Amino acid sequence: MGEEIELILEKYRSAGRILAEVRKEASEHIKAGNSLLEVAEFVESNTREKGGEPAFPCNISRNEEAAHATPSIDDKVVFGKNDLVKLDIGVHIDGYIGDSAVTVDLSGNYDGLVKASEVALNEAIKIIRDGVSTIEIGEVIENTIRAHGYKPVVNLSGHGLSRYNSHAPPTIPNVKYEHGLILKENDVVAIEPFATDGGGKVVESGNAEIYSLIKPKPVRMREAKKLLEEIKNYQGLPFAKRWLPQDRLELALRALENTKGVLRDYPVLREEEKGMVSQAEHTVIIKRDDCEVVTK
Ligand code: MN
Ligand code: MN
Repeated sequence: MGEEIELILEKYRSAGRILAEVRKEASEHIKAGNSLLEVAEFVESNTREKGGEPAFPCNISRNEEAAHATPSIDDKVVFGKNDLVKLDIGVHIDGYIGDSAVTVDLSGNYDGLVKASEVALNEAIKIIRDGVSTIEIGEVIENTIRAHGYKPVVNLSGHGLSRYNSHAPPTIPNVKYEHGLILKENDVVAIEPFATDGGGKVVESGNAEIYSLIKPKPVRMREAKKLLEEIKNYQGLPFAKRWLPQDRLELALRALENTKGVLRDYPVLREEEKGMVSQAEHTVIIKRDDCEVVTK
């Protein structure tokens, strides 16, 4: 039993090491004039070259966007000189996932906002150990972000990680909630504070470029059947529209979307009042007396 857990934790560590390298190199490509698509493709191909697999499409969310933005296949958008960019990367080895994000401030005007989520993440990491409650983590994150003069995003949170599940229980809030769960030794969780100068809430906006398979169901259309077979390869993990065979894709995708309970879509989440948003995220393994950051 103990040996098996060690092997699993080693896979999390390998995924985390690859992720940290990819994140560092990719951050250097985030510059005004470079395209979002080239950065996303760099992240995903570099992940594979290093021996990992993308656990979800590279998220590149800018300014008031907080999460779930990824370029389309023919995306022409380039980074602007004032963009505040959240780069959120997932890498898995054999289904064991590392999940980590950084904020890149191209304007140089959002130092305080970027610091707020970074420091909140570090303060949370300091208290995480076997027996810590998610209530305490949420409280530390909320207090740290508020002390920097910003608001935490209340409806985005950290989460557990399990094999082929990039959003497993428990939810780890970015604010103090009344109800929580106790984290135990060898749990693997992602901590991800979001800070904003807006109201502190995200809403869905625009079309989704990211989907995941909830459950395969019989479909009649030949194109939809073929697409479903393709999608099964992701084992329930989120995938991008641009990863799929493009021939008659819209038609097939629509048929799957119209079959209830097959696909989940992930529309872009943006700050409700169009406030700027920063994010910092690491994946950690809970230890008896502290935690091990695997994506550092
Ligand atoms: Mn993430
Ligand atoms: Mn996450």
